[in-house]
Amino acid sequence: MGQTSKYSHIIDFIKTLFPGQDFIPLHEPRFIGNEKKYVADAIDSTFVSSVGAYVNRFEEMMQDLTGAKYAVATVNGTAALHMALLVAGVKRGDEVLSQDLTFIATANAISYIGAHPVFLDIDRRTLGLSADKLEAFLQEYGQKRDEGTVNTSTGNRIAACVPMHTYGFPCEIERIAAICREWNIPLIEDAAESLGSYYKGKHTGTSGLMGAFSFNGNKTVTCGGGGAIVTDNKELAKLAKHLTTQAKVPHAWEFNHDHIGYNYRMPNLNAALACAQLEQLHAFVENKRGLAETYKRFFSEVENLTYCEEGPDAKANYWLNALLLDSKEERDTFLTEANSNGVMSRPAWTLMHKLPMFQNCQHHDVSVSEWVEERLVNIPSSVRVKP
Ligand SMILES: *Cc1c(COP(=O)(O)O)cnc(C)c1O
Repeated sequence: MGQTSKYSHIIDFIKTLFPGQDFIPLHEPRFIGNEKKYVADAIDSTFVSSVGAYVNRFEEMMQDLTGAKYAVATVNGTAALHMALLVAGVKRGDEVLSQDLTFIATANAISYIGAHPVFLDIDRRTLGLSADKLEAFLQEYGQKRDEGTVNTSTGNRIAACVPMHTYGFPCEIERIAAICREWNIPLIEDAAESLGSYYKGKHTGTSGLMGAFSFNGNKTVTCGGGGAIVTDNKELAKLAKHLTTQAKVPHAWEFNHDHIGYNYRMPNLNAALACAQLEQLHAFVENKRGLAETYKRFFSEVENLTYCEEGPDAKANYWLNALLLDSKEERDTFLTEANSNGVMSRPAWTLMHKLPMFQNCQHHDVSVSEWVEERLVNIPSSVRVKP
């Protein structure tokens, strides 16, 4: 055995966790509850589009689950983020503080408005926005004015802050929320990956003005495509629902619209699937936390790598399990060996400031993001079911 089998003990172990599969994906959906029943019911009702009982039920379930007063269903998580930023008052030319290590949708949603993302560093432990770096950035560049906080290096208004709960690990949201309050910056959480994750007992997505969730096929629970905004602010919830339904003024037969609206409402067909999946969220998260416990025990005996764990104040959904290898070379060796042996593994996303569309955006000290980007891999994390 030579260089090519350096990680075979890890790859073999992962195979024992997902027996009977020639190829083990990173995250597979599980449809083992009422999915077919509810989807068939939605079809029988003929309400398959953006009006229907399951859309309302989905919103109520999201309220119960997160503890937020209001939930608005959207076509996907990117649309949820875009809408949350819009109703929070972000305008063309404004700046939005976010993190360098995130999925592209965070930065895209900011760009749809014509606002500029500013990429700050992540915390080594949480993998989400670093409260220390956020505070340092604002102390260096922020200036409180009547219209809000201004970035003195560009002269633009800082209209929102969007931290992301990476791989379902809650970031230090309590401190981030306190900093945002102090600087009068609306906080919008990208909680797309963290449904079922809590920080000090509070569901992610509920510490600021609004939170955005995703129900894409690779997430903890899925409805094919879908998203949701949660908030305690009644006016913003009303406005978000209005704008996501083409801003149509309610009337029995007339077509009247009072804003530029969006076709962003979740269809009832998807909502039916979402309701069935949400019924299983708790069981899925417990199952995934069981897998995480197994990984943790195994990797505690393995040298030269770190298994990423939730922090002391966090309860993570362990959407995607992550390892930090010793170097970029080790990471690449792991990726090659795992993927050529039927075990899917992926690196972290390319940092936002390196992408051609965002190269001109401001980024601050992103040394931790760069360090993590070079070393991180995700490993199979699906809910395990007995065959
Ligand atoms: C999945 C995801 C989104 C958006 O999700 P879609 O539903 O695919 O539009 C946004 N942000 C992050 C961090 C995500 O992982």
